[in-house]
Amino acid sequence: MTLEIQVLTVFPQLFETFLDTAFVGQARARGLATVEVHDLRSWAEDRHRSVDDTPYGGGPGMVMTPEPLVPAIEALAGPVGPDRACRVVALSPQGQPLDQAGLERLGAERRLLLVCGRYEGIDQRVLDLAVDEEVSLGDYVLSGGEIPAMAVIEGLVRLVPGVLGNPESAQIESFGGDLLEGPQYTRPPDYRGRCVPEVLRSGDHAAIARWRRAEALQRTRERRPDLLGRRGSDETES
Ligand code: SAM
Repeated sequence: MTLEIQVLTVFPQLFETFLDTAFVGQARARGLATVEVHDLRSWAEDRHRSVDDTPYGGGPGMVMTPEPLVPAIEALAGPVGPDRACRVVALSPQGQPLDQAGLERLGAERRLLLVCGRYEGIDQRVLDLAVDEEVSLGDYVLSGGEIPAMAVIEGLVRLVPGVLGNPESAQIESFGGDLLEGPQYTRPPDYRGRCVPEVLRSGDHAAIARWRRAEALQRTRERRPDLLGRRGSDETES
């Protein structure tokens, strides 16, 4: 089933190269994913095509106004409720931090509208009245939701069956289970005196699998012990 993503932004041009490049571009060309980018200003009704205003209570910057955001979201996704055409996700540093499990959950929705904030953020009433959930890329503040939206799109598209050449890739990669992926090597076998581990050149697939698992476990223990056991697989035994 095709993954259908819509994006609402005041900077649609930011998505142009991204959507046509590498496997996001290929997935779209092959009909595995569709991405429509909408310019929020098309819903603005004043002659300046305004989307923001000064904050009540004072303070720096501007806030994105309920008009035209709510009508735009409702036009693209329908009103909040069980018959909504897609799940509406606002990108926000205050949202649920995105991880691989979160991406898989969003991917299962199949139809999404990603709402990109700008300026000092979005009027709370938009979030209350028209948005289903807020998602964060991490504990830092960017200037807009466009790069987070691209990260979500890229993460979702690679989960669509048929997009990755080898369907196992997504499972054996970092966060596919409870582990980071271990070290990887390609040619040359000796680079500045650092040699590729002998086992990887042995042709013994069982030994390679055991080595990779042990390396992945060691790396996860060293770098991200919080991951162990998180996704329910028993990765602590080795
Ligand atoms: N005033 C807001 C706050 O303190 O929480 C930050 C607003 S930020 C400058 C403008 C927009 O960038 C946000 O509305 C959001 O869409 C996007 N953004 C910034 N950082 C983000 C992050 N870590 N994850 C997702 N979106 C982010």
